[in-house]
Amino acid sequence: MKVLIVDDSPDALAVARVRLASENAEIVCASSGQAALDLARREKPDLILLDIDMPDMSGFDVCRTLKEDAELNMTPVIFLSGSGQAGDKVRGLDLGAVDYVTKPFDTFELRARVRAALRTKRLQDMLIEHAHIDPLTGLSNRRAMMDRLEQEWARMGRHGGTLSFIMADIDHFKEVNDTFGHAVGDRLLRQLAKIIAGQCRDVDLPTRYGGDEFVIVAPQEEVANAGMLAERCRLAIEETPLATGHGTVGCTVSLGAADTTNAGSIEALIQKADDAMYQAKQSGRNKVVVASDSRRTTTATPG
Ligand code: GH3
Ligand code: MG
Repeated sequence: MKVLIVDDSPDALAVARVRLASENAEIVCASSGQAALDLARREKPDLILLDIDMPDMSGFDVCRTLKEDAELNMTPVIFLSGSGQAGDKVRGLDLGAVDYVTKPFDTFELRARVRAALRTKRLQDMLIEHAHIDPLTGLSNRRAMMDRLEQEWARMGRHGGTLSFIMADIDHFKEVNDTFGHAVGDRLLRQLAKIIAGQCRDVDLPTRYGGDEFVIVAPQEEVANAGMLAERCRLAIEETPLATGHGTVGCTVSLGAADTTNAGSIEALIQKADDAMYQAKQSGRNKVVVASDSRRTTTATPG
């Protein structure tokens, strides 16, 4: 884990660094509030030890800025201060710090407080990870997908570019459950998740959207490519016999692909892909339909 120590005094930084050397954490240092914010954005530390009394930007100001930053507001802060005044402690903790240590600190106490904060951070990371993973398939879940779409949306706002979105729904999946039972249905969902993930690039986000629906967020993809990605998934699923535990069974999916053209919002993009997927269902299933207003339409779908 990584600890960022912030203090305007080089001596204090050196002392803190030496005292934490045995803690098995990577230590990075900053000697001003602004440098701390820059470093925190770059290095994503797991804990920040933050001096309160610094010129230009106080530790309180740094903490407030951290808490307003969507990417950093979960980073725990321990205030370090020469002032043991209750008012400062209350202010620091109310700003969102997890702890407050008075200088000169006892080495063993400081280490123990750092260890405690890192334990909690590990737990927090684990919970966040679990909250973003679909337990059945191990794919990202809808929440992770929405987070990613929001990030990509913000990125496109800053740098331009495009994004494709594919929605897939298994054909007649109820029949699978009815015929083989829910456990086999689950097993099929896991196999399909693997096949879909296997067609994706590292930058794509294959997701279990819910029930028998999967989506792929494909950044920087022209829709023609998204249509091709969707078609690769369709074909791979059609061609792969799925194990039921008592032999194999065939399965198909219907897919809709859309890009950000004319999509003024994330919801509109999802709706476009959903409409296209619905058309694929209506026109016979086991098909890819690319939203008609998308940048470069493709007729990737056979039949
Ligand atoms: P369609 O081709 O129109 O999509 O037909 P369908 O039978 O697949 O209908 P629909 O997509 O509406 O139904 C999805 C089914 O997926 C309903 C439900 O029984 C099943 N399902 C949803 N979640 C799970 C799950 O976690 N495990 C299993 N085994 N089945 C699920
Ligand atoms: Mg279905």
